Amino acid sequence: MHTKTLSELSTSLHKGDVSSVELTQHYLDRIRTHNNQLNAYITVCEDEALEQARAADQKIQQKTAGKLTGIPLAHKDIFCTKGVRTSCASKMLDNFIAPYNATVVDRVNTAGMVTLGKTNMDEFAMGSSNETSFYGPVKNPWDNARVPGGSSGGSAAAVAAKLAPVATGTDTGGSIRQPASLCNLTGLKPTYGRISRYGMIAFASSLDQAGPLARSAEDAALLLNEMAGFDTLDSTSVERDVPDYTATLKDSIVGLKIGLPKEYFSEGLDPHVAATIEAAIKTYETLGATIKDITLPNTSLAVPTYYVVAPAECSSNLSRMDGVRFGHRCDDPKDLLDLYQRSRGEGFGEEVKRRIMTGTYALSSGYYDAYYLKAQQCRRLISNDFQQAFSDIDVIMGPTTPTTAFKLGDKTDDPISMYLADIYTISTNLAGLPALSIPAGFVKGLPVGLQIIGNYFEEARLLNVAHSYQQATDWHKKSPLYFE
Ligand code: GLN
Repeated sequence: MHTKTLSELSTSLHKGDVSSVELTQHYLDRIRTHNNQLNAYITVCEDEALEQARAADQKIQQKTAGKLTGIPLAHKDIFCTKGVRTSCASKMLDNFIAPYNATVVDRVNTAGMVTLGKTNMDEFAMGSSNETSFYGPVKNPWDNARVPGGSSGGSAAAVAAKLAPVATGTDTGGSIRQPASLCNLTGLKPTYGRISRYGMIAFASSLDQAGPLARSAEDAALLLNEMAGFDTLDSTSVERDVPDYTATLKDSIVGLKIGLPKEYFSEGLDPHVAATIEAAIKTYETLGATIKDITLPNTSLAVPTYYVVAPAECSSNLSRMDGVRFGHRCDDPKDLLDLYQRSRGEGFGEEVKRRIMTGTYALSSGYYDAYYLKAQQCRRLISNDFQQAFSDIDVIMGPTTPTTAFKLGDKTDDPISMYLADIYTISTNLAGLPALSIPAGFVKGLPVGLQIIGNYFEEARLLNVAHSYQQATDWHKKSPLYFE
């Protein structure tokens, strides 16, 4: 049952071969068996899931069900879920029961999907390895000694190990694509504004975007259909029709113009990863695409720019976690200042504190012009590079990450080397562009992801380009042995 695609599951449910209650129970059983080993879920919503499954079965019987009705999924623990703990993997929110649903959650509930639980992540989505979680690291299902990537590492591990058919994630600098790459999944970060951020705990509001983590482009398209759309509750969501992302999956890609930025194939890229990506590009040529070398000259500014903008925004967003409005409160404060200091000191982990301090510094008077304003200018240069490139190509391709999954603990003492894990993914968040990662092969038994970047609102094209490759190759069908 757990090897089926979303379309196959939908058919089985509608034909009555399996009920949503049986399917949900099957996944809950798998979670019970395997989660200890992976630590992919923070909270499992057993009772709520079975209740949603019973309601879905009724809809299916009454023939009022949609395509995804009755299919289970997991949500990254950054999305507010009414009545269920929403921790953002922080001690700060360890006891936070969300009083309302994120729009994404509401939408998939309306579609009749079943929430299995809330997945582990880096604390407040800050990280690339899932090691900053208050609930402990997530293990990569391909090799338990390695990281699954982050920050949506729990969602990625859950889908890769088939503890959920599909999951939601968020991507501020690479947090959907990088774990997708390290766990052999299809992960899509849509255009900024395509999906509502309402009820998604804010990290860096001008960069955060939700998206699906799935085992194929088709599955990702199906979930995106439900997640995307304008929302009056998020002023940055864009009022624009949502196409059926599955309708164009099978379109021909003959004549597709692919740009290869030279900056994405330079030093720092593992040569075996490079060779795997080059082989994937060759496959695209055999499918009728043409290749052009391009340049994105300001790429080297992306990581430093991001590490000013994202901390600046998070220092402001996280100020609400003060033990009064939200979050952990220390015992016996002696006065208000002591309350703030100890509550925040105890509630936040080291990486989050590092970001808040960097961000507060960059925004402080006298430094704002030197850092924040400069970063905004660099951000514009990075966006302009992409617009220049898209004037004569359709999509950009390159590696998603410079290496395959690294060992747990390898980079925890070296924040800069951790930050470089996102060197190829961060630019698209700064520019607000959509991008996805798809499985493209293996190096020493570990998955390699191919990143495909499109112009604004070209999610349908990206999924079509990804699907074409998945019709010609089997990489996305490979799964970690122990979890088959
Ligand atoms: N790894 C990056 C960071 O630590 C991106 C995280 C994300 O996309 N949420 O900020």
